[in-house]
Amino acid sequence: MPITAIRGFNDILPAEALVWRRIEETAWRIFLTYGFSEIKLPVVEKTALFSRSIGEATDIVEKEMYTFSDRSNESLTLRPEGTASVVRAYIEHKLYVAPVTRLYYTGPMFRYERPQKGRYRQFYQMGAEVLGEESPMADAETISMLMSFFKAVGVIGARLNINSLGCSSCRPAYKDALRVFLKDRVSALCDNCQRRLEANPLRALDCKGVGCIEATADAPAIIESLCASCSTHFDGLKSSLNDAGVEYAVNPRMVRGLDYYTKTTFEITADTGLGSQNAVAAGGRYDGLVEELEGPKTPCFGFAVGVERLSLLLGKDVAVKTPINVFIALGHEPRSKGSELIRGLRDKGMVVIEEFSEGALKNRMKRADRLGASRVIILGEDELKEGVVTIKDMATAAQEKVRFEELADRLGAS
Ligand code: ATP
Ligand code: MG
Repeated sequence: MPITAIRGFNDILPAEALVWRRIEETAWRIFLTYGFSEIKLPVVEKTALFSRSIGEATDIVEKEMYTFSDRSNESLTLRPEGTASVVRAYIEHKLYVAPVTRLYYTGPMFRYERPQKGRYRQFYQMGAEVLGEESPMADAETISMLMSFFKAVGVIGARLNINSLGCSSCRPAYKDALRVFLKDRVSALCDNCQRRLEANPLRALDCKGVGCIEATADAPAIIESLCASCSTHFDGLKSSLNDAGVEYAVNPRMVRGLDYYTKTTFEITADTGLGSQNAVAAGGRYDGLVEELEGPKTPCFGFAVGVERLSLLLGKDVAVKTPINVFIALGHEPRSKGSELIRGLRDKGMVVIEEFSEGALKNRMKRADRLGASRVIILGEDELKEGVVTIKDMATAAQEKVRFEELADRLGAS
């Protein structure tokens, strides 16, 4: 039996990779104009980084992390998300000397989840983080940047949901109220949520179990218990979003699956046709995390986009394909002139594949067609003497002779 890939770990084949490239290039082009710089982070970190930041009583830390001991018995984890690593690097390299730091990253994340369409064990995120800014205007600007990116890349019907999770001064009272509410309905909750009722009752609001969704339908809303400062912040967010012309809905149930969020949280959904896999991006504010990881007190805001889900949403037609030119040289001397011509075309950014096989031109033309040629450039002994090549347009079957000096312009123009 041949060896296959592990379930939940995907190959991204060339046609889809082209869509990904367009996604990443569009994001990068837009994020750059908002002052973001790229950071490249390791895929493996010390396990404690994630248990301390994401929180012990979360699905990710309890049951989804790929954790292992390396050969010197250190506990390591394949990163399940990017924010913790960004914050670790921010502290480690003292990036906080700048008043505000805007960072962008992209790469694979790993979670041991049940694989299904739109949910994988290795998946890619593109994320952006603003570190050192507490104003809700930063939240609104970053969300607005994300919406512009979705628009530019071709997403139709993206919906923004926002909520506030309060802070360490107002959330404990809310948690108590929620715990009291849930205790009356404890038997309807899934085992996991029952077990975490004391440590982390908020998780029940995020649980995708049918019983938990029903039991929490009338749960008290956290935005009703915000302190004055969180409430003002949330009002600031809403008015800044209004100013930016970004539409949103307040969803008081949205709590997100990571413990580090404070104040603003948000999620962007789009109709993927995949039920609970309809969230394409999510994020929020994490004003306590830098301090939690022993850095200076730093208010932060960030988000991550799920690349696979975005790609599913866009389909293949958003990718722009560059025309493929296949070059066929007939004989030794045409081949050496051909190499020179090919180099010239590639220097100008054109795609040229040389067809190396020997044999009848007819067969080589067939191979060129199967290579996806839009045009075939043929150089034989006669053409070499005349200083021309024959170009065949594969869509129309039209042929023409073009002088060497005019080849690049002719191909570039059509
Ligand atoms: P979900 O509610 O779908 O489980 P999440 O709340 O766990 O998502 P985050 O941790 O906030 O997601 O990650 C941000 C984005 O990353 C999600 O909106 C989604 O697009 C994507 N994502 C998360 N987990 C997966 C996964 N297992 N496979 C593919 N994409 C994922
Ligand atoms: Mg999840």
